[in-house]
Amino acid sequence: MGSMRSGRSSLLAVGTLLILSATAHGQALPEPKVVSINERVHVLLGPIQHATPANQGYMINATVIVGDKGVILVDSGGSAEVGRHLAAAVRRITDKPVTHVVNTHHHGDHYLGNIAFEGATLISSEECRRLVLETGGEWLAIMEGAVGRPLPGTRPLAAKLTYPQGRTEVSLHGVRLAFWVPRGSHTAGDLLVHLPDDSVLVAGDVLVHRVVPTLQDGFVKNWIRTLDDMQALGVAHFVPGHGDLMTRDDVAGLRSAMAGFYAGVKDGFRKGQSEERIRKSLDVSVWERLERPHLIGRNVNRAYLEIEADSFDE
Ligand SMILES: [Zn+2]
Repeated sequence: MGSMRSGRSSLLAVGTLLILSATAHGQALPEPKVVSINERVHVLLGPIQHATPANQGYMINATVIVGDKGVILVDSGGSAEVGRHLAAAVRRITDKPVTHVVNTHHHGDHYLGNIAFEGATLISSEECRRLVLETGGEWLAIMEGAVGRPLPGTRPLAAKLTYPQGRTEVSLHGVRLAFWVPRGSHTAGDLLVHLPDDSVLVAGDVLVHRVVPTLQDGFVKNWIRTLDDMQALGVAHFVPGHGDLMTRDDVAGLRSAMAGFYAGVKDGFRKGQSEERIRKSLDVSVWERLERPHLIGRNVNRAYLEIEADSFDE
């Protein structure tokens, strides 16, 4: 404020002040698009671009499950600010408190907002908890780098209540739900939420829609199997981590793109081709048109390493 009193404040300084005050109140964050599947399941669709100064790290979908005595929120955003922004969106849907926050995996854009939900029980897979404790500081730095400023008040908080691999059925606030921890797919510690009575599967980044999937921390063969298993659930509404809601056909489309990609890399590997050569000859036109095409090269690298590791066992 001193610079404004001095009478020498430049337009730049005034502009910076305006931006800072807007972000301090969360007003500059893009509003989620709310898709209500039924009276108790509401999806808050976030921006699909990678974290930028414009979206301030708000780039994920969150799902609001309204039970009889409280709300179960799936994913909490990439910072304390984004978490508060999502909390405000929840309050526009219901006045019930958020009592449980589920983290679908350990990537910072999905869970660094946990800290905005004081008192809520944090839930994740066992492996996700381990990965949050191990990589939380790195993820905070990644998010701060992407948005180009510190994220005040943001600290990685690991879940207290964790689930092992497999399917665990519980009832929370009168809502029947299953926590499904598949074999490592998008990450080593994915957790999906199946709501059988609502015909909904909340998939985290095991599903993405019109966005290139991130294979960097993934396990491609397992991931393809998980996509098969989810199609067998018989649900109508698939909630991806990024992008619009998906149908079973959309899931089948992603499955076929992943399987084609994996087969292409494997074919190149068997012919002794370099990663660079494989990247050039691979038909990834379905992914090149999507958001985040820069991930394709890294995806080739990850699949190549997985195939190479498997070849040692053969
Ligand atoms: Zn992710």
